[in-house]
Amino acid sequence: MTIVKKIIIIGAGASGVYLSILLKQKLEYQCEIIVLEQNASPLKKLLATGNGRCNLSNKDMSVDYFSTDQKDYVQDIIDQFDMLKQMNELGLYCVYQGNLLYPKSEQALSVKQVMMNCANELGVSFFYNQEVISIEQSKRYLVHTTHQTYQADYVIFAMGSEAGKLSGVNNSRYDILKKLKLDVVKSTPSLVQMTTLPVIKEWKGVRVKGTFSLLENNQCIHKEKGELLFTDYGVSGIAVMQLSAFYQENHQYELSIDFFDDQDVKKLHEYVELRMNKGYNHFYDGLLHNKISTYFARRNLTSTLEIVKLFKDFRLQVTGIRSYETAQVMKGGLSLLEVNHDLQIEKYPHLYAVGEILNVAGLCGGYNLHFAFASAYRVAQAIEREFHAKNK
Ligand SMILES: Cc1cc2nc3c(=O)[nH]c(=O)nc-3n(C[C@H](O)[C@H](O)[C@H](O)COP(=O)(O)OP(=O)(O)OC[C@H]3O[C@@H](n4cnc5c(N)ncnc54)[C@H](O)[C@@H]3O)c2cc1C
Repeated sequence: MTIVKKIIIIGAGASGVYLSILLKQKLEYQCEIIVLEQNASPLKKLLATGNGRCNLSNKDMSVDYFSTDQKDYVQDIIDQFDMLKQMNELGLYCVYQGNLLYPKSEQALSVKQVMMNCANELGVSFFYNQEVISIEQSKRYLVHTTHQTYQADYVIFAMGSEAGKLSGVNNSRYDILKKLKLDVVKSTPSLVQMTTLPVIKEWKGVRVKGTFSLLENNQCIHKEKGELLFTDYGVSGIAVMQLSAFYQENHQYELSIDFFDDQDVKKLHEYVELRMNKGYNHFYDGLLHNKISTYFARRNLTSTLEIVKLFKDFRLQVTGIRSYETAQVMKGGLSLLEVNHDLQIEKYPHLYAVGEILNVAGLCGGYNLHFAFASAYRVAQAIEREFHAKNK
């Protein structure tokens, strides 16, 4: 007679829902799966991803695009997972746009529909408005929510992070781990806007394409080519989000903007000289966005060197990054030093962690969802192996 094991997954986000599907597919009647979710509905954050289009993965997948404390585990997990193939198996038609993988519908909603259809058809039980506040180890695990206590043979942490304010803002996710005496790396926002000085109010809403460098003591920490948006607090846009991943508290940074990254300094120097010799009355007009040209013109610069510096190395002081509310991910979370390569917590048999609750944060470009799904895939394989070994 097969004994049915009860598996509780905490969090109905991307990693939790995907894991519930995989476990039910692999173990069928051998397991009962309950997903406890504090929100009133599942996959709230997933719906907001990629501006509602859900950038699922990236052709250029490497651990170098992640910040974590166990690079080799992460490398192996992301390499072993083929998002296109797995989504196809769920019934989600995906296409690459350049390196970025999206659902063909370009709607995160279709990812949610496909996942929830699968989970519901397989018989996964979802309980909403159930905030888990602690876990206790006794004969089985006791999972306490604000409302009641559940018993489980396996518990999987899939609580994500507070980034974007879509997966709850309370600290319960980290408190649960700390009560179990697990090492939690402090969570800090990543993929987030930056505050600067000065804030050039008249540039608010202006988008520029160029190359942007985060500098510390005049040394380049990271460089991004792309788009930047000036705002009333500082700067935003994908390039800024990427740079924010390299920001560390209590360090002093500057942002260097290269407005003319299509020209090297020498060529731009020649061009500026030529333009000055032509004696244009309105030297800056026609070079950059009108609001930027107007601002630069007021400086009344006459030296070619100074003008070229303005164009290729315009500096803003970075005073900080914005909060978790507007961040896409949080760095930090459960240290990977607490888990084995199957993401099982070493100190607690049958306790696992998947997705962003782990100390793994990727750059923009589908890396975070790739890890959320790939880590769920890894844990599903590990639990399946254990079930089969026991039933031999
Ligand atoms: C605006 C935005 C855009 C993004 N765009 C992209 C993108 O295009 N591509 C990409 O790869 N990544 C993107 N990300 C990041 C990506 O969405 C996350 O990394 C990913 O969703 C993490 O999945 P997860 O399952 O680990 O956590 P989540 O999706 O955060 O799910 C965790 C779930 O656990 C629940 N929970 C938490 N604590 C408890 C508790 N104590 N009890 C019960 N339930 C609990 C939460 O309510 C939540 O539903 C974006 C993020 C944001 C905010």
